Amino acid sequence: MRTKIIAGNWKMYKTVQEAIELVSGLKRELTAFSGVEVVVCPPFLALDAVSDLLTGHEIKLGAQNLFWEKEGAFTGEVSGHMLKSLGVTYVIIGHSERRQYFGETNETVNKRLKAALANGLLPIVCVGENLQERESNRTFDVVRDHVTGSLAGMSKEDMLKTVIAYEPVWAIGTGKTATAAQAQEVHRFIRQTLASLFDQPTANAVRIQYGGSVKSENTAELTAQPDIDGALVGGASLKADSFAAIVKNTVK
Ligand code: PEP
Repeated sequence: MRTKIIAGNWKMYKTVQEAIELVSGLKRELTAFSGVEVVVCPPFLALDAVSDLLTGHEIKLGAQNLFWEKEGAFTGEVSGHMLKSLGVTYVIIGHSERRQYFGETNETVNKRLKAALANGLLPIVCVGENLQERESNRTFDVVRDHVTGSLAGMSKEDMLKTVIAYEPVWAIGTGKTATAAQAQEVHRFIRQTLASLFDQPTANAVRIQYGGSVKSENTAELTAQPDIDGALVGGASLKADSFAAIVKNTVK
């Protein structure tokens, strides 16, 4: 039985003060929830303050990236070891915005993934095709390449700790959600790919989130699909009421 997971990716939004207000609002909105895991991923600067506010609360803390070295002369980078010391549980890796604007490749995703696991962090690995790739019928090829390349050399045990986020790039921040059927088709394909890379029981146990313009109105239909195990939410995670509504509309 896979527990659904709803994660909010705050991207480069929210000052520390605004992050405190947002997470305080979420704590008021989500006093009790069960059968779904909830994660918020603020910018690095706000992790410490949000971590303090979430102490003893069921909402878990995630980061949006990490560097693979533990420490050293790597100006501007943040390590898994540093994130772990702040009480971070999850870390998003290979988001399409990082692939698009910061030169992230399957190889660097793989290095970050291994560093996350080595530091006891649970990775959320993002995969997904862009519009041109979808329109030229290359969705499955691109997704297979992202999954296989990003997860290279992983043990089954580590795979079970990892969440995959299928995020069609054309649906991120555009208001265009993949239909539940379109998303389910790719999620099933990802699970089949995992079965060929690992084995069927491992593939059946891994959680695969959908991301791309998720809002409270489309959450139930998406999360009712057999291979969709939750959502990675961008824009709608920036307000407490809209994110809480998504959590409440998640089909357990
Ligand atoms: C995301 O950033 O991962 C995302 C899915 O964004 P949005 O929900 O705004 O499309």
